[in-house]
Amino acid sequence: MDWTSLFIHDTTWSFAAEIFLRCIFMYIMIIVFLRLTGKRGVRQLSIFEVAIILCLGSIAGDPMFDEELPLLQAFLVMATIITLYRITTLLIMKYQPFEDLLEGKSLYIVEDGQLVLEQIKKGKMSHDEFFAEMRQQGTEHLGQIRVGLLESDGKFSILFYKPEDVRYGLPLFPKAHQPIRHVEENTYYACLHCGNVSGLKDINERCQRCDACHWTIAINTPRT
Ligand SMILES: [Zn+2]
Repeated sequence: MDWTSLFIHDTTWSFAAEIFLRCIFMYIMIIVFLRLTGKRGVRQLSIFEVAIILCLGSIAGDPMFDEELPLLQAFLVMATIITLYRITTLLIMKYQPFEDLLEGKSLYIVEDGQLVLEQIKKGKMSHDEFFAEMRQQGTEHLGQIRVGLLESDGKFSILFYKPEDVRYGLPLFPKAHQPIRHVEENTYYACLHCGNVSGLKDINERCQRCDACHWTIAINTPRT
């Protein structure tokens, strides 16, 4: 292998200096254009915004070291992308269908302490992912949740029941989330598939809501 070619190739001192200047200009340009998007930070990006960031990123990199690319061209590309971005965000603010198309809708995952069947069927997200999100927000079981909404940016918003309104629900922590082997009297059981709570007479009884027959013991602990 030719190590000189690998590391240096045809780099001259003057081009090294040019790279230095190109980087400074592109760095400033990136910051200015990111400020122009109007975003304050990048903690929560929608898919659409990630696409913009990717575009800007790829435009920004090459002119830093490619002598064939004048900075003016990079500037023009970035200006065009940002203008498109601003126009799109304006349209998103004005027209709801446009927003649903680009950012995705927020989805009700939990209502009244049970998983929303329609959403489980669509399989937008696995049970495990939902449950992890809910656990991270300090939820022990579904009976504590009045409304659970999956936002378009992937965040999970939860409205909790007041402590006195907490009902029996499906436990979310793994140890309590085990299928039962036998049925006892005066015990509430929760459907592992949809969170429906019911008393059982027989272990093979099917869930009246979703027709599954996997049950675990429901709990009604208040939130701490
Ligand atoms: Zn069920």
